[in-house]
Amino acid sequence: MSTENFTVRPYPEMWAALEMDVPRFDKARQMLGEVYGKLFLSQANRPQRMTYFDEMIAEIFGRRVEELLAAKKEGRPVVGTFCVYIPGEIVVAAGGICVGLCGGSQGSVPDAEKILPRNICPMVKSAYGFKAGRICPYFQAVDFVYGETTCDAKKKTWELLDRLVPTHVMEIPQMKRARDRTMWLEEVRDFKTKVEDVCQATISADQLAGAIRVINDKRRALQRLTALRAANPAPISGKDALLIEQIAFYDEPVRFVREVNLLCDELDQRVKNLEGVTPDSAPRVMVSGVPMALPNWKVHNLVESAGAVVVGEESCIDSRYFKDLIDEKETTMDGQLEALTDRYMQIDCSCFTPNDERIEQVLKEYRASGARGMLHYSLQFCHTYNTEEIKILEACEKEKIPYLSIESDYSPEDVGQLQTRIEAFLEQIRG
Ligand code: SF4
Ligand code: SF4
Repeated sequence: MSTENFTVRPYPEMWAALEMDVPRFDKARQMLGEVYGKLFLSQANRPQRMTYFDEMIAEIFGRRVEELLAAKKEGRPVVGTFCVYIPGEIVVAAGGICVGLCGGSQGSVPDAEKILPRNICPMVKSAYGFKAGRICPYFQAVDFVYGETTCDAKKKTWELLDRLVPTHVMEIPQMKRARDRTMWLEEVRDFKTKVEDVCQATISADQLAGAIRVINDKRRALQRLTALRAANPAPISGKDALLIEQIAFYDEPVRFVREVNLLCDELDQRVKNLEGVTPDSAPRVMVSGVPMALPNWKVHNLVESAGAVVVGEESCIDSRYFKDLIDEKETTMDGQLEALTDRYMQIDCSCFTPNDERIEQVLKEYRASGARGMLHYSLQFCHTYNTEEIKILEACEKEKIPYLSIESDYSPEDVGQLQTRIEAFLEQIRG
């Protein structure tokens, strides 16, 4: 596939059956193909194994959606989620599929703004707009969605989203005391009951053990990819690594793990051969902050277009999603649900207070990545990340880490201004 002839393939009949706004969605499909060709296929010296992930994007509105519909026909639950707090292992244990529905596109924001306030986070608006405008086949395909109470914009949006698609909500604790863990365990149990209700089957401990292994394997594969990015020169671009992390929220997990490991085998070889996507003198940047949902590639594209390479991301689309494994030793249902609870309680989202472990984690990942500068990325109106950024800044100042903070949305309007600031930041790293 070349930059010019890359297309996201159309499935108009399936989209019509899913009651989508087909003419409008087809335009979005064409635009995604053009942008993807330009941003990804134009990169020099890409690993060959990226062809699988290119193909995933070419079929993102087609073959993968067909797999979801086939699962539904067999009575397997298909659940949409918006947060890494939802224990997807339980859905997989029921033979079902969990898909991330976070919105990363400006295209659906106007649909949301017809009803939601303008001054809330673009990720929430984009996700809601996809459903309101009937321009996302995943939203149309799910049995139900599971939201959470991590931030105010989300939890109030779920009440409105429930008018369009069955929306259940998990209460996420905001602190990490013993009583919060007890409450969270109850929420995990309720989630299991809800999934069992939908598929009208009881999940066994063996099934849950298998699902925990599958999702842990996904985490292990992504950890391996992250470790390889620490090499200098970097064997893969930050844009491609981010893309893989984004696809992790859509793809069939066993197939995804196989492909990520095959890619990592190739990257291993590249590291041995000192083969990189940029020269070893290229500035190395770590990005920390809010998740970047597909197709939000704005910051990575700006950084890498300026000759630098992104070597790690600390966010929920990235390391916060896969850094912690679930204890696989538990064999009883009660023990497994406790293990799930303990693992998910380790997520260091800024919705928690206090959340000092995130600051430690950011520094730890920074050192491990071999980065030479830290870029903090926040979405507009995300109060928790925007406020917690103060502590990241202080930690970087203390460690004398070159630092840049960006607050942005999904529109292209600030691209010129961001480019200027990023170039100045890279100059600072170059010294
Ligand atoms: S940043 Fe917080 S709210 Fe967003 S996905 Fe992560 S844990 Fe959930
Ligand atoms: S980025 Fe912030 S405001 Fe937006 S959904 Fe996540 S936690 Fe909420």
